[in-house]
Amino acid sequence: MQLYDSRAQALRDFTPLVPGQVGMYVCGPTVQSSPHIGHLRSALVYDQMRRWLNYRGFDVTLVRNVTDIDDKVLVNATENEEWWALAYRTELEFSEGYRALGILPPTYEPRATASIQQMHSIIDRLIAESHAYVAEDGSGDVYFDVRSWPQYGALTRQNIDSMDAATDADPRGKRDPRDFALWKGHKSDEPASASWPSPWGDGRPGWHIECSAMARRYLGAAFDIHGGGLDLRFPHHENELAQSTAAGDGFAGYWVHNGLVNVNGQKMSKSLGNSVYAADLLGAARPIVVRYYLGQAHYRSTIDYHDGALAEAEAALDRIESFLERVGRRLTGTRFAGTGTEQIPDAFAAAMDDDLSVPQALAVLHDTIRQGNASIDGEDLALAAAAQGQVMAMTEILGINPFSVEWSRGQDKAVSGVLNTLVDQLLDERQKSRAARDFAAADKIRDVLTTAGITIEDTSTGAHWSIDGQ
Ligand SMILES: [Zn+2]
Repeated sequence: MQLYDSRAQALRDFTPLVPGQVGMYVCGPTVQSSPHIGHLRSALVYDQMRRWLNYRGFDVTLVRNVTDIDDKVLVNATENEEWWALAYRTELEFSEGYRALGILPPTYEPRATASIQQMHSIIDRLIAESHAYVAEDGSGDVYFDVRSWPQYGALTRQNIDSMDAATDADPRGKRDPRDFALWKGHKSDEPASASWPSPWGDGRPGWHIECSAMARRYLGAAFDIHGGGLDLRFPHHENELAQSTAAGDGFAGYWVHNGLVNVNGQKMSKSLGNSVYAADLLGAARPIVVRYYLGQAHYRSTIDYHDGALAEAEAALDRIESFLERVGRRLTGTRFAGTGTEQIPDAFAAAMDDDLSVPQALAVLHDTIRQGNASIDGEDLALAAAAQGQVMAMTEILGINPFSVEWSRGQDKAVSGVLNTLVDQLLDERQKSRAARDFAAADKIRDVLTTAGITIEDTSTGAHWSIDGQ
């Protein structure tokens, strides 16, 4: 398998540090406001990558953090909603958006505020190695000294002198305007709850150090893949790389960056008021359609969201659904039913191995559907069954199998609601019969439930039931 490593600016064969295992860190959201289309796309890209690595036999540890303390979170907090309440409410919105799109939960989803000690330990090492210093203006800030690290700029191939100044803290305490904050001394206008004790005085972490600390904590000093949106390359990822390697860590083996989402040809921005939020998308189409739409482009390309974009995805998904329904109907009762093995075509695997080329993989999927439909037309049911198995396998890997359980949760919920009502009603009648000492009637109800596979347990708080084997 090959991945495009943004640091090498080249496709590289993927070889993990430990055979069979992959450690993957993805920059998660700063939970300051509702998730938008770009956030969903980023999380989805790494979900696809993880599913493919899993398919290829790797045991993947995926870490996607939650930046729950940052300038932006503090700015958006109000008198009625403290920063930590805002952060948590927003985090739930993100989780809901991810869940709706079938994005599997990461192995670990750490919040920055739970790894403050780990950040201190990296800063300690940087100060000891003279790659960081405490500001001389008494602010309590600690900065990374970019001039002390000759490799600074390696990720984005920039020369220090041509870089923008870091705008993350008061430049007065900095030796160089490009030095960035590792620790920010507490300011009197910031809430006391957003302040932690440190060897350099009370304060809070800079944004970049959060990711370095969480990556190290959950994946070790060196790990395989670091991912995030293209907009994070500089300064965020450049700074993560500099501080972690200057502190002696190997850090990421491969840097992957996903493309951004534009809206009607324009960059999304608050000032333009053209942001498309997760809620807008999920209100406009079925979640599986949104997943198809956001996942169909190559992960490194820019997506342009425009009116009608979801309709195109809906049509493509309809072709998949119609074929699976049609082939299922046609094969039922024939000796070919269930004979198609769930196996992906070689061309699909080759596309996914080629830097996760989902557009080519989808082309193979739709070709297989065309051939499958032609086989049904020509009454070649053996071939139709083979196509069915392949389509199932491909859509499962991409997370777009419309008949998969992950897309039928709503239905399950409805069914369990009905079941609850019916069983509770029967148990109620059984209780009434027993109270009336009509044990024959009570036993009959019990027998009906037992035959249906439901076990009843009489306890001091009433009868409890469960479905056998669950
Ligand atoms: Zn990060």
